[in-house]
Amino acid sequence: MANSWVSVPPESDFPIENLPYGIFKTARGPHIGVAIGDAIFDLHVAAQAHLLGDAIPAGVAQASSLNPLLTLGHDSWARLRRRLYELLQSETTDIAAQDRERFLVGRADVEMVMPFEVRDYVDFYSSLEHATNLGKIMRPGSEPLLPNWRWLPVGYHGRASTVVVDGTPIVRPRGQIKTETGNPEFAPTRMLDVELEIGFVTGAGNALGEPIAAGHARDYIFGVVLVNDWSARDIQAWEYQPLGPFLGKSFATSISPWVVTLEALESYRAAVPKQEPAPLPYLRCAEDWNYDVVLGIELQTQAMRGGGISADVISRSNAKYLYWSMAQQLAHATSNGATISPGDLFASGTISGSEPGSYGSLIELTWRGEKPLKLSTGEARSFLEDGDTATLTGRCEAPGKPRIGFGRVSGTVVPAR
Ligand code: CA
Repeated sequence: MANSWVSVPPESDFPIENLPYGIFKTARGPHIGVAIGDAIFDLHVAAQAHLLGDAIPAGVAQASSLNPLLTLGHDSWARLRRRLYELLQSETTDIAAQDRERFLVGRADVEMVMPFEVRDYVDFYSSLEHATNLGKIMRPGSEPLLPNWRWLPVGYHGRASTVVVDGTPIVRPRGQIKTETGNPEFAPTRMLDVELEIGFVTGAGNALGEPIAAGHARDYIFGVVLVNDWSARDIQAWEYQPLGPFLGKSFATSISPWVVTLEALESYRAAVPKQEPAPLPYLRCAEDWNYDVVLGIELQTQAMRGGGISADVISRSNAKYLYWSMAQQLAHATSNGATISPGDLFASGTISGSEPGSYGSLIELTWRGEKPLKLSTGEARSFLEDGDTATLTGRCEAPGKPRIGFGRVSGTVVPAR
């Protein structure tokens, strides 16, 4: 493993092999940085000092979002990553020791803001276990998987403008909820849920009318974030047929502030589960397109926070369980000739494993409230209550390999307005 002149604690999500990109805010404004250990290397300052050479055009490193970098495409992303690696590695850096401090800020000292402007947002439904569980819960007594599920990565277009960064409070939404009379009322949701997902962000895309082949997906995908697709299950249950989720999802979607590049994840690639029936030719892909990312959901109630009690881990899952891969999702989303743009976000859908402790949402973990979770404080939860903080975590780790972490994405529920 490589050594950086920035000290990296052994448990850190961000060794030099990771170098995820984010936007941090100080009194000097929003700057692009890469996380390393407990610090951030400031690309804006590095560009001012002419340290980035010709890796990327002038100005891109001094933008206030990653979108101009996303626009450049795969070769520029690789060049910039190589240059940053050189600059941060002890043996290869050409930053003089006495000069180094001015390129670093403490991660604890800054506010992270949205890493990129989300141009368009799609959420898939690509976990077989999640889709099966939801089918059983939402449509009891019928076949859990609808006939199309094993033929295509089912998805819907979400709301790009309500994708928010880690730490943004989540206002409990109001909406139409079916009552026992059969008619709806308009009320705050009583079934506020989390969804444990990952999502990929794309660079410059295809021309209108020209699909992206699954085998070329790697040229278009910049990196991956954690995604919490907050869901109001009672609003969703009333509205979702026939056209899919709408207001039960669009009130907020949280993402982690650091975008982990595909290159950083390279050594954690994993096989896609066997797909039966065999996908149609345009969805076939020879590469291993899944990633071995250990995922978790943590829940901290207001009482825990008040008592200084740390959060309970309520689920452990893994991104390698996904049935449909990112390459298949991208190929399907563009198979009709629809375009993608720099800053498009494609989320996986809730990632559940086969065991109850690995389900990626409360509606599955508590089976729609039939089996409430018992928390370490003795409190019980079927769904989120006001004051609860839900946090998603993700990291790749294996013996002999550098840890590639995603950090966290949290949100605290505040009362309905
Ligand atoms: Ca979702």
